[in-house]
Amino acid sequence: MGPWGMYLEQIDRVTPYLGDLGRWVETLTRPKKVLIVDVPIELDSGEIAHFEGYRVQHNLSRGPGKGGIRFHQDVTLSEVMALSGWMSIKNAAMNLPFGGAKGGIRVNPKLLSSAEIERMTRRYTSEIHNIIGPSRDIPAPDVNTNEQTMAWMMDTYSVNLGQTTTGVVTGKPISLGGSVGRNEATGRGLFTAGVEAAKKINLEIPGAKIIVQGFGNVGRTAAKLFHEVGSQIVAVMDHTGAVFNSNGIDIVAMGAYVDKTGGVVGFGGAEVLLPGEFWGLNCDIAIPAALERQITKNNADSIKAKLIIEGANGPTTPEADDILREKGALIVPDVLANAGGVTVSYFEWVQDFNSYFWDEDEINHRLERLMKKAFDAIWEVSLQNRTSLRTAAFIIGCSRILQSRQLRGLYP
Ligand code: NAD
Repeated sequence: MGPWGMYLEQIDRVTPYLGDLGRWVETLTRPKKVLIVDVPIELDSGEIAHFEGYRVQHNLSRGPGKGGIRFHQDVTLSEVMALSGWMSIKNAAMNLPFGGAKGGIRVNPKLLSSAEIERMTRRYTSEIHNIIGPSRDIPAPDVNTNEQTMAWMMDTYSVNLGQTTTGVVTGKPISLGGSVGRNEATGRGLFTAGVEAAKKINLEIPGAKIIVQGFGNVGRTAAKLFHEVGSQIVAVMDHTGAVFNSNGIDIVAMGAYVDKTGGVVGFGGAEVLLPGEFWGLNCDIAIPAALERQITKNNADSIKAKLIIEGANGPTTPEADDILREKGALIVPDVLANAGGVTVSYFEWVQDFNSYFWDEDEINHRLERLMKKAFDAIWEVSLQNRTSLRTAAFIIGCSRILQSRQLRGLYP
């Protein structure tokens, strides 16, 4: 099952809970707009290379599209469509005034120079220029894109339009209208949701053993925040492999090592694991924060964690969801657990419109408040309907989207 198939299955699972709004549910199974673009660039060698780029606007019933841009060799249309659908649900579940969108380029950016990445980013931005904008669709960083990518996107859009338009993307550098706290926001939101979930199952966070897949923006921040309150990060996995230390890894030292070498394998404070050993490790909490479909029917049964906090989008397949639930594990779903990023992106967008910027305490405080509020609402709905937290989040998100759809009506 591809990522879009996985998304459709999740929509099937929520449909019985949507009551009369179920009449509109097909709208969630058809992205509103799909744009596929050719992105040609001149390489440093003088050769010409073509890359395939996408921007999918899944649903715009509640506001402009919002969702990140991914540069990865495995990007497909199915993946971008699924990611855009999850953005619609996430934004609605968090009650942010956005629809859902996502974009990407099928490319391994690790094989390109910085100048080549800049040319590719600018050409891609020009190709999708007509459908993005601060009131239309607002991209942000995702896997292998960062604040520099967003600066190039903002500049390209602004130059083409003839006016500086900071609000066209979020996750920008602070000096270009970015928000303090945005870089850490996804990991911080994950931490807040994780702490709330741990309270519900009486799991003590200090001393808890945690495994983290992905040591990028999300995984690294989450690992750092849990480490700071006394949890033990016993294993970390990234694209180079997995490493383990039963006494807990020194996350600050690992961060410095990864900055220097680009990956966790070879870090002196931990031993290398064999492929396949990672998910079955003894631990209390597992944080998948890399790519989708990492926890599947093939490894779900081996997972020992009582709590799974999804930093990545779509890391758990529906079959794995069922297996984990039967084992009694609690999953904090992606559309809640990693919503901190888009929440602070929302704050950034609001600040850009007002040209008035808040301090970090205010950002973190507001983020924590919204995360706790969303967690409590989803928890309540899951109790009322005896569903997983994922289905509960989908009930809230889908209902809000479909209510907007119904109120707006069909045109003509
Ligand atoms: P990133 O590029 O900063 O980091 C990605 C990490 O995943 C890296 O450590 C990389 O080594 C690792 N990785 C890549 N391929 C892997 C593989 N095959 N096996 C194991 N590890 C692998 O990306 P990020 O921004 O941290 O995003 C990670 C996930 O979180 C994605 O699913 C993304 O959609 C989701 N997410 C990110 C944000 C955000 O604000 N950055 C917000 C919401 C959700």
